[in-house]
Amino acid sequence: MSTLEIRGLRASVAGKEILKGIDLTIKSGEVHAVMGPNGAGKSTLSAIIMGKPGYEVLEGTVTLDGVDMLALATWERAIAGLHLVMQYPTEVPGVRLDAVLTEALSTRGRSTDGLDDALRSEAGKIGFEERFLDRPLNVDLSGGEKKRNETLQLAILEPKIAILDELDSGLDIDALRDCARRVEAMSNDLDDSDGQPLGVLAITHYNRLLEELKPDHVHILAQGRIVESGGPELATQLETDGYAAFAAAPDDDAADASASALGDLFSL
Ligand code: ADP
Ligand code: MG
Repeated sequence: MSTLEIRGLRASVAGKEILKGIDLTIKSGEVHAVMGPNGAGKSTLSAIIMGKPGYEVLEGTVTLDGVDMLALATWERAIAGLHLVMQYPTEVPGVRLDAVLTEALSTRGRSTDGLDDALRSEAGKIGFEERFLDRPLNVDLSGGEKKRNETLQLAILEPKIAILDELDSGLDIDALRDCARRVEAMSNDLDDSDGQPLGVLAITHYNRLLEELKPDHVHILAQGRIVESGGPELATQLETDGYAAFAAAPDDDAADASASALGDLFSL
């Protein structure tokens, strides 16, 4: 059983505090959905977990099975068992998918025997055309094909915990269903590399992803804080009530702004 534990995480980007104290615990086999409006800090959370340059941790911890992830380089976090499916997958001209996966598996000390067959079998499961397997990574693929490609890499690498940043963005309905079902299956099946099901942190602002990828826990992120946590019913409630019903308590910036507005008023 693996555990990704985020405690008291505060983080800033470009000098502005975006995450203002996040606590989340994700275990093998659990699917946690983090939902929030645009600008809430969802992508910032995924960037901090994976160590994207330019994002600064101000306070708090991120550990995987007790190991401090914040002290590691991004590639070391990946080898430790974290995997990010990015909101906008990067095109890598000149580098083929099978080369990337061969390298990634070797670096993890895993065998690459049968990789070709595994790729073809996985491609079949998620409707990824086999002719794309020999192409440079993500180059000239549509939004939906890129997300299928990312899901395929996830299935081959079998990390401990997957962070999906808006897997549903840029996806048509069919691709969304195929990718979400595959991730759901990974969260139920024991994988070959470590015998554990996948733990999932699924970041999204729409409920539709969660129709196929069934969350055990749903958290609402607003203005850098988790303002509500519950079961799948919370996502359904969001669908009818919207995010406004879960607005965060006024944050310090807002309090400062209203204080200075009052100051202006009194100085007139
Ligand atoms: P979400 O994914 O929930 O839509 P983000 O985490 O992308 O939100 O963004 C949260 C806030 O941080 C936004 O106000 C955004 O403009 C700001 N932000 C995110 N990344 C950067 C960056 N690299 N430079 C400057 N501001 C950023
Ligand atoms: Mg985002």
